[in-house]
Amino acid sequence: MNVLVINCGSSSLKYQLINMNDESVLAKGLVERIGIAGSVLKHEKAGMEKKVFEQPLKDHKDAINLVLKTLVDPACGAVKSLEEIQAIGHRVVHGGEKFANSVLIDEKVIEAMKECIDLAPLHNPPNIIGIEACKELLPNVPMVAVFDTAFHQTMSEVAYIYPLPYELYQELGVRRYGFHGTSHKYVAERVEALTGKDMKDLKIITCHLGNGASVTAIKDGKSVDTSMGLTPLEGLVMGTRCGDIDPAIVTFLMNKKNLNVSEIDNLMNKKSGVLGISGVSSDFRDIEGAAGEGNKRAQLALDKFAYTVRKYIGSYAAAMGGVDVIVFTAGLGENSASARKTICEGLEFLGISIDDNKNNTRGKEAEISKDGSAVKAFVIPTNEEVMIARDTLELSK
Ligand code: ADP
Repeated sequence: MNVLVINCGSSSLKYQLINMNDESVLAKGLVERIGIAGSVLKHEKAGMEKKVFEQPLKDHKDAINLVLKTLVDPACGAVKSLEEIQAIGHRVVHGGEKFANSVLIDEKVIEAMKECIDLAPLHNPPNIIGIEACKELLPNVPMVAVFDTAFHQTMSEVAYIYPLPYELYQELGVRRYGFHGTSHKYVAERVEALTGKDMKDLKIITCHLGNGASVTAIKDGKSVDTSMGLTPLEGLVMGTRCGDIDPAIVTFLMNKKNLNVSEIDNLMNKKSGVLGISGVSSDFRDIEGAAGEGNKRAQLALDKFAYTVRKYIGSYAAAMGGVDVIVFTAGLGENSASARKTICEGLEFLGISIDDNKNNTRGKEAEISKDGSAVKAFVIPTNEEVMIARDTLELSK
């Protein structure tokens, strides 16, 4: 059985076609600039060179049409006909309190997803547009929605409630939800395979450190706390997002700089984080490069980032009453030995001890803690697509 995994952004679309017999990726790709000049599809078939197709794509339906055409293309496609795509899995950012698990999509589910739009006005609409486009193009293929928030629905009320008037939670759903759930769950499951221990017997802290970044505390196999909140703006210092700040800064800056709502939102989401501190870039490779050449603000950005992750690890160890395993994943977590080392420095009191030689690794599963370290640390490349495909297979049987 082949599952097509689709992740629709506002002007982009990522896809993977996965053969579920062995979970191999038959083809994958990315459509960019949907609805704007210069639309482009970059397609890779296993074992073949990347192909680039440039053609106008006015909307997501056009984009999905092109993806489907490419997947059955005799020259670079991966299947002979669309009948070989037996199910489609969609990544959906926000499931609110409505979805604690993945779900087979029907009209009711789409309605419920629309009710979550207020909570993720930038992310959920393109996700829904992608689903509706696929429904039109492949009406008989079962589709499943996999939510970024679902894994964190196990958080306790104490962990998810904000100290705001309780009525705002009741009326508007203002509470902490958390994101990157599919990734945190995937790496936690890999911890079971790597340690030979049941997740239920482990306290795990998973650090998803990419452009967007979050930390999750997993106890008894369940997310008990996570650093992102109502939106993905809360928590760690990120590429361009500020993470935790004094909320009074919002009104202070609006007053002093005469900013309106969308301007302050843009400042906190797009101009802050390590980009804001360093003034160099949101990309950690550029910042590490600049810091290496003596740029003090770049170094400050890296130090602030690592310090924040370290504080979250400490607080989650406190929240769970200990920690057995720490995992690093996503772009920075998988690739930057220096970030992992700086984050873990000073955590020896918790029993965390990183082996510099073992830590000198990138992009593959590896234990990086010293032999005998009470807390084990791992690098585990994330794979959200395979998680989406597994749920899709399960629910569409
Ligand atoms: P997202 O999916 O949130 O866009 P990714 O998980 O792809 O993010 O991570 C992107 C981040 O990972 C970028 O900031 C990038 O600089 C960083 N990154 C990727 N490779 C490396 C590397 N070799 N060294 C340092 N940082 C890296």
